Amino acid sequence: MPTSAPPRTGARDPHHIEARPSLIAAMRQADVAVCTGAGLEAGWLPMLQQRSGNPKVQEGAPGLLLASRQVKLLDPRAPGTPFDGDVHTEGNPHLSLDPRHMLAVARVLSERMQAAEPAKRDALRARLAAWEADWQRRIAQWEQKAAPLRGMKVAGQHTTYAYLWHWLGIEQSADLEPKPGIPPTPGHLQRVLEQVRATPPRAVVVAAYRDPRSAQWLVQQLGGGVTLLQLPGTVTDEAPANTLAGLYDHRVDRLLAAAR
Ligand SMILES: [Zn+2]
Repeated sequence: MPTSAPPRTGARDPHHIEARPSLIAAMRQADVAVCTGAGLEAGWLPMLQQRSGNPKVQEGAPGLLLASRQVKLLDPRAPGTPFDGDVHTEGNPHLSLDPRHMLAVARVLSERMQAAEPAKRDALRARLAAWEADWQRRIAQWEQKAAPLRGMKVAGQHTTYAYLWHWLGIEQSADLEPKPGIPPTPGHLQRVLEQVRATPPRAVVVAAYRDPRSAQWLVQQLGGGVTLLQLPGTVTDEAPANTLAGLYDHRVDRLLAAAR
């Protein structure tokens, strides 16, 4: 296993990761590479796999773990569906926004790690069991805490948070993007404004790595009572979202603050 982790990616757009030498080096040493899949890494993973020269992390090898194959995707696309100009060619890949999906991914990750390190099998199994118990307890706590968010309306930019809304019963009433991956246009934003003006969302939500100007414009047009929420897309370098559990805590807390 590599001893040095690549830098955290909270500030970077997961659709467009730069294949830096440190990432290539990490891929070269990896026994297991964990990716989202569903085409999210289509623009950069194949190059990393090739440059790594590591047979363990190539397509079809047990060392390549695609999280998207462990869960049911939102907006799934049948294989061979014609390209329609959007970046989610196999369905919505932002599955990590639902913490329940982490259970399925962790189980398979543990299996793959046990296969790579048979001498540590018992210890890896024990760690998985302890983590699962803790994670299930946390999920129950988040669901209880977030109960007031059920039915809350939000507008979003991109379908980044669709799994979070699905989990917590939040309704995204408009998307600032005309299609996933197509940036907001003035004409589309005007239509969104007309669409939500009668029942404005409580928040306009945009991932912290995106340009917030379109979201800021919509918040201004809608007047008071609408919050601009810039949420981390993944784990950040600083607290409170610098651990996986802290990231979900932070999202729930920020949404509850916007709902009040
Ligand atoms: Zn996306």
